[in-house]
This record gives sequence, structure tokens and C-alpha cells, in this order.
Amino acid sequence: MNSKFNKYSARAKELRSLLNQANHSYYVLNFPEIEDSIYDQLYRELIELEKANPSLITYDSPSQRVGGIPSKGFKSINHNIPLLSLDNAFNIDELKTWYLKIKKLIDSGKKNIKENKNPELICELKIDGNAISLRYENGILTKGATRGDGNTGEDITTNIRTIPTIPLRLLLNDPPPWIEIRGEAFMPNEIFNKLNIERKKNGQPLFANPRNSCAGTLRQLDSKIVASRKLDFFAYSLYLPHDWEPKDYNFKKPISQSEALEFLKNIGFKVNNTSEKKKDLNETNNFYKYWEIKKNSLEYATDGIVVKIDNFEIQKILGSTNKAPRWAIAVKYPAEKKATKLKKLIFQVGRTGAVTPVAEFESIELAGTTVNRATLHNAKRLALLDLHYGDTIVVRKAGEIIPEVTEVMKEFRVIDSSLVQLPSHCPECNSQLVQEPNEAITKCINTECPAKIKGLLLHWVSKGSMNIEGLGEKIINQLVNVGYVKSIADLYKLELSSLLNLERFGEKSANNLLREINESKKKNWHKQLYGLGMPHVGEANAKSLSKNFKSIEELITTSKEAPQNISNIYGFGREITDGIIKWLDNSNNQNLIKELKSIGFSLKENLKSKSNNSNILNGKSFVLTGTLNSLTRDEAKEMIENAGGSVSSSISKKTNFLVSGEKAGSKLKKAQELGVKIINENELKLLL
Ligand code: NAD
Repeated sequence: MNSKFNKYSARAKELRSLLNQANHSYYVLNFPEIEDSIYDQLYRELIELEKANPSLITYDSPSQRVGGIPSKGFKSINHNIPLLSLDNAFNIDELKTWYLKIKKLIDSGKKNIKENKNPELICELKIDGNAISLRYENGILTKGATRGDGNTGEDITTNIRTIPTIPLRLLLNDPPPWIEIRGEAFMPNEIFNKLNIERKKNGQPLFANPRNSCAGTLRQLDSKIVASRKLDFFAYSLYLPHDWEPKDYNFKKPISQSEALEFLKNIGFKVNNTSEKKKDLNETNNFYKYWEIKKNSLEYATDGIVVKIDNFEIQKILGSTNKAPRWAIAVKYPAEKKATKLKKLIFQVGRTGAVTPVAEFESIELAGTTVNRATLHNAKRLALLDLHYGDTIVVRKAGEIIPEVTEVMKEFRVIDSSLVQLPSHCPECNSQLVQEPNEAITKCINTECPAKIKGLLLHWVSKGSMNIEGLGEKIINQLVNVGYVKSIADLYKLELSSLLNLERFGEKSANNLLREINESKKKNWHKQLYGLGMPHVGEANAKSLSKNFKSIEELITTSKEAPQNISNIYGFGREITDGIIKWLDNSNNQNLIKELKSIGFSLKENLKSKSNNSNILNGKSFVLTGTLNSLTRDEAKEMIENAGGSVSSSISKKTNFLVSGEKAGSKLKKAQELGVKIINENELKLLL
């Protein structure tokens, strides 16, 4: 063997290993460790190497396999028809090469297909979600699966059933014994943004794009979580038994992709309505260019277009490789990145004391919005970037994701510019910053740091915790700046005269705020837990903790004596448990717990809101109006939900009960008009 070949072989081995590792992070863990553009570049290099040296192709090469390995959390399903990937073109020239190859293949094959010289194309948007296969038997949804490795996927039927745009029964009077549908499950941008904001608040890693967050959602073991994430679905492929013909004259068996999309729509699926039939490549190019600009106004993410040969007969002749059909190709859009000039570096201090470097730069338009700041995450990332003042930086923004600085263009560096470094002292309180061993995060550990206090208070009064109306960032800043509030407990010691000293407070608004603050002491146990701000304990985890431990004392004892009872909670594990134990062990947090108890917080399960969990209200819907005497709205809501009922904010004919308190408004009138049963607080308690 010559030395050149040895070099190629070593490089192919290295690429296989890199790509397989990236595939694992991307498909199994749903957290990519490299950017897609880098993955695509490495993948291309491997394909080129293998093409030039076919003996380098190994069974485990990523070029021979689709996607990732199905996870063990779900039952495996063998696909009756493989779920393939798509070949990629990265620009219009590559699309042209593909089309010419197709025409050649057709010419060398059957000659008797009309229009075979210039086969018609259909352009669809490439939805950035996850391929799903659905099986309907006699018109009823029986199976839903992920793509997995193309041959074997994961059985996620229960989760799939929570997606409202996937029909459970087809709108077909004479359904065949089976139908298989393929399409893309996706997370709409709005939901994706909210999810990431929530994760950021809880100190959880952010999803890189809607596709990874959709994959993570589809793989939740609890279908209630899937339902709450509001996924959506576009159908794009249809497989019918060969010998089946619709008896219903409204339906015609499709002979092309465009007819299949129409058929899918007619049997009850949501089909992306942007697809268009195209006569030639010129028309296709226009579609690509049009959506490159327009895609930012869509409510979902798309990373390119898919060009398909429309006619099924020609598709059949062209067939597939073991990875992708020959009759289709994805043309990807370049990632939304732009270069700009760094203006300033600011260092933000969060409620945990973590210092985040944030770059401020000359405004740029990215993914449809104007951006002028981006996070640099932490000191480690800052050091890796080797950022200097005045540098030209590259900023990326995928969909609506929080923008980030991905690289520094060192070729444009100004001579003698100085390196950006994390300050040694807190920019807010000037105390020495600390870098904890094995952590990328640099922290301010001064408990009196005003930035930390402001962050803690903002978290405490937020919707998921105390939900104190009228207490936003501006007032909190004032309260901390003038020194009235130095801790959460201080909020509850505020006096009318202090509030009246602040800007824009009159007697009425000050009294209202004091009442709201005082009322918040009645909030449920899980809301109190969430407000404490333990690491990784967001709203969902706080609920799980509150169900397993009925009081803070029980949680503290368990953390010392049987921490495995925390890590055994579904979805918890080592990292979260360690974070909780460390938090509870900290003397400042112990003081906070003591103080909260001394001012009247129970820090335990509120028996008033605990129902007997008998599901006595199963299927019953409620609307609340007016002020209740002994319960807050949240408590009443929780009691109803614990008993199996649901609470909605608007009234309709379907509402079973309106719970009406003092000063009930327009909902009471509407309930009377609609004939909805009206009950008071006591009657609600009796029902429970
Ligand atoms: P792909 O995303 O390039 O394209 C195939 C998929 O497109 C199909 O499986 C289907 O789910 C989807 N699709 C969307 N709209 C469609 C439509 N209208 N018609 C048909 N299909 C449609 O291929 P892939 O195999 O799913 O993933 C490979 C890509 O994923 C890579 O190119 C890379 O960008 C990314 N990736 C990144 C990493 C990383 O570490 N960053 C790792 C692995 C993969």
C-alpha cells in the first residue's frame, strides 16, 4: 500500500469517528456539539474520499447509514418501507448537476415515459423538524415512529397522538387495510423561543434549533409534556397498497407527488401550502431565491427547499441508494451569519452570581430582526474566541434563537488591540470574582451584590413563582438601589411610607402592591419551591419535587440521608440532585429558608389546595371569575386540576361550571346567556 493511501485511510477513519460522535450528540442526545455547517463540510470530505477510494467505505461509515441509533427508552419498530434521508446540494450549481444526472439516468433507462426528457419537478420547503412515519389501519392511526436509522425507529405512538394536526381517523369512507404517511413533526418558532427562554431562566442548556428541541420533545417519556409543547406536523409522503383503488368518487389514486399532497390534504392532514410544481430549473431557482428571503416570516423554521421529481413512475425507475432517494434533493440555505464590528463588551451578573460576557456590536439584520448584542456564554468560550477590542466578529442567529458570536475574523484585527478578558472583580459590587474548579462559569459570591439581589427578586416575583402583579424590573431596581430591599424577606417587611418615597407611587398603588405582596404568602408549595431558585429547578422540576417531598424539611432530610430518592425522580439524575444538595447545604440559602418561614411562608404542601386526587372532576371544564374568599385563583385552579378537571380562561357552551366570586364580571353574564352552571366557592369545595 502506498503512503498516500495510508494517509487517506487514516483521514477517513478520523472523519468517521468525528461524524459518528457528532451524530450521537445530534440524534441521540439532541444537543449538537458542532455546527451544522461544520458537520456538512466534514461529511462532504468523507464522501469525496470514499468516492475516490471505494475500498475505504466501511460498514459503520456515516455515509452508509441514515440518522442515529434508536434510543432504548422506547420500543423499536421496523419500518415496512425504509425512511430515508435526502441528498444535499449546497447551491444552485449543485442542483443543476443533480438534475442533469437524473436526466441521463432516465435516458439510459426506460424510453416510454412521456415527458421523460424534462421531467416535471415539485418544490417543497424543507421543514426543519423530524421525519415521522405514521401507519393507519382501516383508517385508524395505529403506529407512529421516528426515523431512527431508517430501518428501525422508535415507537412514539402515544406522543404522536398528542399532536392535534395528526388525524386519529382518516377522512376516507373506504380506507384501505393500511396507509403509510411520512411527514415532518416540528416545533413552531414561538413555542421554541418560549421553551429556550424558560430553559435559560432555569439554567438548563439551550436547544440549538427547533429541530433538536422537537426531537427532544418527541422522545419525552411523559406524553403530557409532549402535549404541552404544542408540536405540529406537515405530511409530505404517501404510500398506499398497490391493489387499492378508492371507491369514493371524490378521491383519485395519486400518480404524482403533487397529487399525493392533494390527497393527503383531503384525508385530513395539514400539508404545507407553499409547494409548487415547476417545469424547469429556472423556475426552481426562483422558488429557492424567493423563500431564502421570505422564510424569516414563516412561523416555523426551514433550512432549505426539497426538489422532487413529480411523477411517481419516474421516481420508481430512479429508485434509491441505501441512504436517500435519487429522485429528490435538498438544497440548503446558508446559515444566517454576518460579520460586524465589536463595539463594547459588557459583563452581566445573574441571580446565581454567574458572570456572562455580552458583546455589543454595530447593528446587523439577521434572520429578519435587527441584532446588536450577543452572548459569549462564559469565560472559557471567551478565551477560545481570543477576542480583542475592535475585532470583526461573526454573529449567528438560527431562527429566533438568541444570537451568539461564533468566530473572530483575525485577518481584520487592528494592530496593538488588547485582548478582551473577564474582569477580576464584579462589575456591580467590585468584590473579587471566583472561578469554581471544573466549571466554565465565573461567579460573584458576594451575597449582597445588588445585581444578584435584583436577579433573585425578579425570579421570586415572576409568573411561575409568586406572580406579584405590579412588581416589575423597574420597581425592583429602585427598591434595591435605595437600599430598602436586600433580600426576598425584605420585600415582606416593606412599609407604605417607603413605597411612597419611590417614583410614581401613590397611596392607592402602594397599598395595592403591599396587599399583593402579602397575598403571595398563600402561594402553593411548588411555586414557593420554584421561587427559591435552586439550580436546574424550573417550574416542571419544582412540581415534581413538591409531589415527592411535602415540605422543605422533608427535602432537606432526604438530601442528607437518602439523596437517591431525589435522583430517582423521573427526569432528575445526578447533576440536578447534586445542584439541589449543594444549594440546601449553603448557609445563605439556609438563612433564606429561615427568614421565609419567620415571615409566614409555609414552605410545605398547602392542605387547602390538596384534593383527594380522586379524579372526581374528570373531563369537567371550569372557568373562574371574580374574587374568591378563601382561595387564590391559583389554588382553586390547582384543586380542580388535581381532581381531574380543567380550567380555561374563556367561557363557551362546552364549559361545565363557572365558579363565580365577588365582583364577577362579564363572564358571569356570558355564562347566564349560554346556560352554563354557575357555582360559588363553597359549592366548588363541596364538589371536590
Ligand atoms: P437532512 O436534514 O439534510 O434532510 C432529510 C430530512 O429532511 C428528511 O429525513 C425529512 O425529515 C426532512 N424533510 C423536511 N421537509 C421535507 C420535505 N418537504 N420532503 C422530504 N423530506 C423533508 O438530513 P438528515 O439525515 O435528517 O440530517 C443530516 C443533516 O443534519 C446534516 O446535513 C447536518 O446539517 C445535520 N446534522 C448535524 C449534526 C451536528 O453535529 N451539527 C450531526 C448530524 C446531522
